[in-house]
Amino acid sequence: MSNDSTSAPNFIRNQVREEVEAGKVDTIVTRFPPEPNGFLHIGHAKSICLNFGLAEQFGGDCHLRFDDTNPSKEEQAYIDAIKEDVSWLGYQWAGGVRFASDYFDQLYEWAQYLVREGKAYVDDLSPDEIREYRGTLTEAGRPSPYRDRSPEENLDLLERMRAGEFAEGEKVLRAKIDMASPNINMRDPILYRIRHARHHQTGDKWKIYPSYDFTHGQSDAIEGVTHSICTLEFEDHRPLYEWFLDNLPVPCKPRQIEFARLNLNYTLTSKRKLKLLVDEGIVDGWDDPRMPTISGMRRRGYTPASIRKFCEMIGVTRADGGLVDIAMLYHAIRADLEDNAPRAMCVLKPLKVVLTNVPEDHDEVFEVPGHPARDDMGTRKLPFTREIWIDRDDFMEEPPKKFFRLAPGKEVRLRNAYVIRCDDVIKNDAGEVTELRCSVDFDTLGKNPEGRKVKGVIHWVSVAQGVPVEVRLYDNLFQVESPDKDKDTDFLEHLSAESLITLQGIAEPSLAGVKPESRFQFERVGYFCADRHACREDHLVFNRTVGLKDTWAKIQKKG
Ligand code: ATP
Ligand code: MG
Repeated sequence: MSNDSTSAPNFIRNQVREEVEAGKVDTIVTRFPPEPNGFLHIGHAKSICLNFGLAEQFGGDCHLRFDDTNPSKEEQAYIDAIKEDVSWLGYQWAGGVRFASDYFDQLYEWAQYLVREGKAYVDDLSPDEIREYRGTLTEAGRPSPYRDRSPEENLDLLERMRAGEFAEGEKVLRAKIDMASPNINMRDPILYRIRHARHHQTGDKWKIYPSYDFTHGQSDAIEGVTHSICTLEFEDHRPLYEWFLDNLPVPCKPRQIEFARLNLNYTLTSKRKLKLLVDEGIVDGWDDPRMPTISGMRRRGYTPASIRKFCEMIGVTRADGGLVDIAMLYHAIRADLEDNAPRAMCVLKPLKVVLTNVPEDHDEVFEVPGHPARDDMGTRKLPFTREIWIDRDDFMEEPPKKFFRLAPGKEVRLRNAYVIRCDDVIKNDAGEVTELRCSVDFDTLGKNPEGRKVKGVIHWVSVAQGVPVEVRLYDNLFQVESPDKDKDTDFLEHLSAESLITLQGIAEPSLAGVKPESRFQFERVGYFCADRHACREDHLVFNRTVGLKDTWAKIQKKG
């Protein structure tokens, strides 16, 4: 990969290294805990790379644990997609896939334990009343009138909640902590809610489901997690996380460490909003190549290495609110493909050129490198024929001064081939250019023409042997850097009308029959990837992953 400085600060890695070196921790155990209520996005990739990366680096384990406490929003399809994404990124979780629901029995026993200890109670207040009693940031909460029920009564009610005797919302189980705590999370948080919902893992077994807070830390403890790494919005939950560990007979005490989430400009990283794009049909599913989902990025042509590299480049800090420039992500994939994608020529907007001094039966084939710096990529064959396609944008009838491509009476080099001169421009009745007549200077193969300089080089494809390709040019979905910043404007209003442009192009014959997910640099155009779903032998479809121009490298140089 290109030699740029790539390692940004990672305070968690430093901390873990110190602990390991000081012998404070034997084997580290981390976990990645997605809720299966949507596909993973680039923000999750940051968390995956951090958690799995630490385990990899320090010889520990990273678990994949589905945080599945909310059955009404979760689905098996999301579980499958998440597993596939993590594997595709190149990570292997230790042991089998885990589910927080695997621990529902244990959690229930611990709830009974708290009740017996006088540290939890069943509350009959309605959800609205609970909110009202909870107080505000400036006002202490008030105790519920049900707060002092006896452990016996609470145990009985809890058991009946579990048996399905009550309607949803009728009762909850709450921890008895401190209704006056300055931290609202400590004001008797809810441990269990009644939900008469079928769960994707436990079926109809449960009529009550534990809250996120009552589940997460204890699941960490059951699994022997040493470092429970999460994003900063959970900082205020840490005292509660620790309260459960301190007040329950858990096997060990994991530590919660928070870091700043990834925010990327021109991009949404909220599952809820991404789901809306899918549900409204604004994009072609969760893996639409414009989506910042891992599966969308994969379909767009990102490599696992480029995403891991990007996550390394952005680093891990506690500084909140920063926006990462998407140019950095583009830089990461471009650097990878620059080194690893074979080259090909593809004309996106075909304009026919007849080479008048090339005979009809001319039979010449150029054998050129698959990659300029990679002998291991072999060579490819470019048939040169009387009729070729060039790109419409490489011709101008009335060119400005610095236009070095083709124009009437002007010369240009065909990449990997000869210099040609434009002798005639053919137009239709509407005055549009339909064809060019050019002549070849046969004395220019691999050398400069006699007595004159030809600056421009353009790509081309044989008419007789080129293969038709559908080319999908993808760009940012949103026109503004922070589509969801302004609370008064619907983020959908910032959608770009140009995030997808589809063209019918012609590619060199070596592309015939490429496999889905093959990646190429289309010379002078950009990096492209054969679509995973749509690309077939008889209908080639390529997605533009990224253009050639590296704005990130430019910003770096200036800075
Ligand atoms: P969303 O807000 O998109 O719904 P979430 O945090 O609710 O995301 P989870 O499935 O709970 O989604 O996330 C799993 C893990 O990924 C959590 O540990 C979470 O902190 C982390 N994560 C989610 N979004 C980001 C982000 N933008 N940057 C870094 N980590 C993230
Ligand atoms: Mg979450």
